[in-house]
Amino acid sequence: MPGLVLGTRMEQAIMSDWTPVAGLRIAIDGPSGSGKGTVAKLVGEALALPVLDTGLLYRFLGWLSSERQADIADENAVLKLLHHVISDIEWRAEGIFFENRDCTALLRGEDVGASASKVAAMPQVRHVLLELQRKLSGQGCVMDGRDIGTVVLPEAEAKFFLTASQRERARRRWAQLNQGDSEVSLQQIVEDLKTRDARDSGRECSPLEKAKDAIQIDSTTLRIDEVVDRVLAVLERRALIKRV
Ligand code: C5P
Repeated sequence: MPGLVLGTRMEQAIMSDWTPVAGLRIAIDGPSGSGKGTVAKLVGEALALPVLDTGLLYRFLGWLSSERQADIADENAVLKLLHHVISDIEWRAEGIFFENRDCTALLRGEDVGASASKVAAMPQVRHVLLELQRKLSGQGCVMDGRDIGTVVLPEAEAKFFLTASQRERARRRWAQLNQGDSEVSLQQIVEDLKTRDARDSGRECSPLEKAKDAIQIDSTTLRIDEVVDRVLAVLERRALIKRV
């Protein structure tokens, strides 16, 4: 099984204003550009909990399939590759390490996102990665993805489902990509987002959907700190976190 370096950093725990209940698992789901990754990171920092970005697992597999020229339309080929490399993958709170190399930065692009969403529609691939995600959530964490509240951690103590208008999500994604070397146009992002939304929501296995007991937050007109404050307020109201 892949390794994991979990565990919160000591200095982070000392600086935190909050104490979470032991083993607190917070599920944050939503479509691309809904802000779930950033919110998960900030909530994790505020509570000194490890943050696990499950999208990175699918991104890694999509990326590696291209690198190793595995046919991304063939589930058996992708599964075979996954079994072959799984013991060399380390999924850390900081990102994905493969053969002891941090490859997280290689996984952020739109093309990798599109490959990720293709391998993510494969039931057997999801099954292998599901076990891994569950195993790593044990000590408490903030986990973000598409099916965390519905499938990966249906018993999570708190679940949030973030949304935003498609236009706003595309704008955020575009701004994010254009901070790097990318020169993707906004129109291209809108098209990619539509395709990915349709594939992620329309697939049979673990589609993107809100868990019945998840709290939905529409972040279209909210700043990121306002979303984080809402999440923390819900957790405090439910006595899942306490001010130090
Ligand atoms: O969240 P991110 O955009 O990095 O995820 C990339 C792709 O991985 C998504 O479009 C989705 O297809 C897939 N994914 C998934 N289930 C998750 C996380 C991500 O299917 N829990």
